[in-house]
Amino acid sequence: MKCDVLTLFPDVLSAYLDESILKRARDKGLLDVKLYNIRDYSSGPHRQVDDYPFGGGAGMVLKPEPIFRALDDLNADSESRKVVLLSPQGKPFTQSMAEAYSREEKRFVFICGRYEGIDERVKTLVDEEVSMGDYVITGGELAALTVIDAVTRLLPGALGDERSIENETFSWGVLDYPQYTRPREFRGLDVPRVLLSGDHKEIMLWRRKQALKTTLEKRPDLLEEITLTDVDKKMIAEIKLSSSADV
Ligand code: SAM
Repeated sequence: MKCDVLTLFPDVLSAYLDESILKRARDKGLLDVKLYNIRDYSSGPHRQVDDYPFGGGAGMVLKPEPIFRALDDLNADSESRKVVLLSPQGKPFTQSMAEAYSREEKRFVFICGRYEGIDERVKTLVDEEVSMGDYVITGGELAALTVIDAVTRLLPGALGDERSIENETFSWGVLDYPQYTRPREFRGLDVPRVLLSGDHKEIMLWRRKQALKTTLEKRPDLLEEITLTDVDKKMIAEIKLSSSADV
């Protein structure tokens, strides 16, 4: 995956890109991220990138010219790119969007806003506006990193063990099952016995049931979105029965 990121703060991204899975993916050539400082595309002695909003109001707005210029430069090689603007007004980012992006195998341009936002005319260059959620953060950098991270994890070869993504939260539409590691007993809290049994079928069934239980407790809305198997339905009935017996 190739990503060009337009930002006023490239260092914010490089620290994260230089660690762990993203660094390994870059070293392996699976992920290629180029950071472009929007200020490098500004003109005039002060390299101004922002200005007062027309009509008045608080704060500053990112000017259109540097961003248009940066995209003109990037588009000079005529490679196709999907231009994504990080914005609280965008489509909320989900695992299924990450999966779609990972399949697109396109080149992406991420535009990170700052201040009061970006001059509206920049949106004529944008293919998709993507939001991290219904809250406002200071800049688009964390949002761009989130998208790049979530998509990179899905690229074949990016994770040490490909099985890591098979059961992750959202991978089959529900939350992940509970995880345990050593020690077997810690401050009176035991690891569930089935996980120590070595019986892989039982472990698989236990995990599936726990994933459904966690989802039922924390995000029941997710269960409306997926097709449940007969085994899932039976497990959910058992979970509901045992929780009503607990009351
Ligand atoms: N005035 C803008 C509004 O109310 O919609 C918010 C501007 S915000 C302080 C500055 C930049 O942070 C935005 O242009 C956007 O790039 C980024 N940003 C803020 N919240 C975001 C979110 N929830 N998702 C994605 N990007 C966000």
